[in-house]
Amino acid sequence: MAVVGCFTGSVEDYQAHHAAWVLEVRPERCPHCGAEHTCIFWGSYARWVRLTTHRVSIRIERVRCTVCHVTDALLPSFLHMFRHYALFLIQKAVTLAVDAGLWGDELADAVGPFNQPAPSTIREWVWFFALSLNFAPYESNREQSRQASADRSASGGNMRCQSAPPRWCAPCS
Ligand SMILES: [Zn+2]
Repeated sequence: MAVVGCFTGSVEDYQAHHAAWVLEVRPERCPHCGAEHTCIFWGSYARWVRLTTHRVSIRIERVRCTVCHVTDALLPSFLHMFRHYALFLIQKAVTLAVDAGLWGDELADAVGPFNQPAPSTIREWVWFFALSLNFAPYESNREQSRQASADRSASGGNMRCQSAPPRWCAPCS
């Protein structure tokens, strides 16, 4: 399991200051059994964080409760527990897709250069994080996105969806 602690700096800042940060975010109360002052440091492991142009190796510290013996990783808030890419990239992709109606190559180019992250990865993020939650903004942006797509089609742009289109995307004809 994991405990997510707020870290507002860059990934490189985390590399430089994580030893002090883990002392601040170590839980005073066990999140599992509620015992106080029982979470002790319990080793660490290396983890890669992927960004648009490079990847960075960071250390993740673990804590273990001396009462219930459950172990947690102390994750900085720029990480998702099951994703290699930094969370701000995932948020950027989902926001651009949902709020700005970007999709396909347009979305991939706006998120990162040289197809990093891969367009298929970005599509999976959008499907997983946005569509599965059935956010209300889809409906409010639907007409706007449909109009934007119609405008692009009228200008001769190749805006055909590369896979099943999201709900706010006008159907390809
Ligand atoms: Zn406990």
